[in-house]
Amino acid sequence: MSHPPPQSSKILILGAGTFGVSTAYHLAKGGYSNIHVLDRADVPSPYSAGTDLNKIVRAEYDNPFYTDLALEAIQEWQKPPFAPYFQKTGYLVCTSAAAPEKSKNSLAESLSSISSHSAFSGSITKLADPDAVRRKVPQLTGPLTGWAGYLNKHAGYAQAALAVEALARECTKLGVTFNTGEQKGRVAELRYDSSGKCLGALTADQSFHTADLVIVCLGAHAASLIPQLAKQLTAKAWAVGLIQLTEEEAVPMRGIPVVNCRDLGFFFEPEPGTNVLKLCNASAGYTNRNAYGVSIPTETNEGIPEEDELAIRRLLREALPQFADRPFVEKKICWCADTKDSDYIIASVPQTSGLMVVSGDSGHGFKMLPIVGKWVWEFLVKGKRPEWWQWKNQELDETGEEDISWRVGTVRDIKDVGRFRAVKI
Ligand SMILES: Cc1cc2nc3c(=O)[nH]c(=O)nc-3n(C[C@H](O)[C@H](O)[C@H](O)COP(=O)(O)OP(=O)(O)OC[C@H]3O[C@@H](n4cnc5c(N)ncnc54)[C@H](O)[C@@H]3O)c2cc1C
Repeated sequence: MSHPPPQSSKILILGAGTFGVSTAYHLAKGGYSNIHVLDRADVPSPYSAGTDLNKIVRAEYDNPFYTDLALEAIQEWQKPPFAPYFQKTGYLVCTSAAAPEKSKNSLAESLSSISSHSAFSGSITKLADPDAVRRKVPQLTGPLTGWAGYLNKHAGYAQAALAVEALARECTKLGVTFNTGEQKGRVAELRYDSSGKCLGALTADQSFHTADLVIVCLGAHAASLIPQLAKQLTAKAWAVGLIQLTEEEAVPMRGIPVVNCRDLGFFFEPEPGTNVLKLCNASAGYTNRNAYGVSIPTETNEGIPEEDELAIRRLLREALPQFADRPFVEKKICWCADTKDSDYIIASVPQTSGLMVVSGDSGHGFKMLPIVGKWVWEFLVKGKRPEWWQWKNQELDETGEEDISWRVGTVRDIKDVGRFRAVKI
């Protein structure tokens, strides 16, 4: 199609998760008037990595390019329509006594990336030992064995599913239409003409949706429609556990910073209104490889491996021991699309036309909800796109063990671990 595409172009966005809804929003705001979104579930979709109580919004990155983007996102989070869903509670980053060198080095790099940046001046406090951590965050009642790190006040969390839902409502106001559900929204295949032009998408109900431009925002599911992506994207899952606090237990936790002990895991302020506390343990994640070696998300996300449950309880014992034996009210795995270098992909699909991909979130894409779609608009309209996000020719390691600085442990296949076994405490 011509560049920039005419504003009347029919644009089909596949996936109404974090990147898809942001893309629809910015293209509609940028004047595109014929935008349709397909998703296999209503927003917020249970298959979206963004459908979660909350996500960390922070700007610490090894690469200053992402620090600047995340700072821009933090600014946008403080404006409509995002502001109601952003809580600027701050971000406590630590390692424990048992942390591998890699985690300690990664923390030191994070700290140096923000310490030297003017946007964080006055926002960072170094915390040399567990007592210093406790003085800053007195809600942490556990032993905090060997915890040391820093508190960054220029950060917080987003109420993730609520934010995506609200943005989808904004899209509707701007004239975007949504077709959702297993029949009318689930995309079964893309169709091309003999020149490689993508003609549109076929949904499970056998309806064919024509388009001038198809934008694939399917997150970890993207390679199922564009097999060439399997070489550069690995679907990987992490565990999430939720516990219920009472009002009396939650009140003292109000305003607690997001707590991330790099080698143990992280948790958030109890959800305002429901008092549900979300926790994730630190791990390298799981793949789900098929017979061809391609990792694809599992059909159900319910349940977590026993070892993740134990790891979440270890985190609780260190930080909030009063809740360490509390039953989970929900346990699930959450799928991301990892790239080798953790860079996103915003690119046209080679050897095709009228088809582009917005993916490769690598587990750090939610915070960018307010601005992802702006990058897509800039790529389409101005032809501008940072070199980091081009179509990648690098092949992923068979094991999926890319060397991501903030990850710990070894990637394993989810089929090799007992996901639904009961845990004895
Ligand atoms: C455990 C966990 C914790 C995370 N924590 C953070 C954090 O703290 N901060 C942060 O910034 N990021 C975090 N992330 C990453 C963040 O969630 C992702 O970067 C982001 O959600 C990716 O957005 P996406 O649009 O690419 O994919 P998704 O949000 O997953 O959207 C994909 C969409 O495609 C739809 N879909 C799939 N298949 C089909 C089909 N065949 N037809 C139609 N629709 C389909 C799905 O229903 C879904 O809505 C975390 C991720 C995980 C897993």
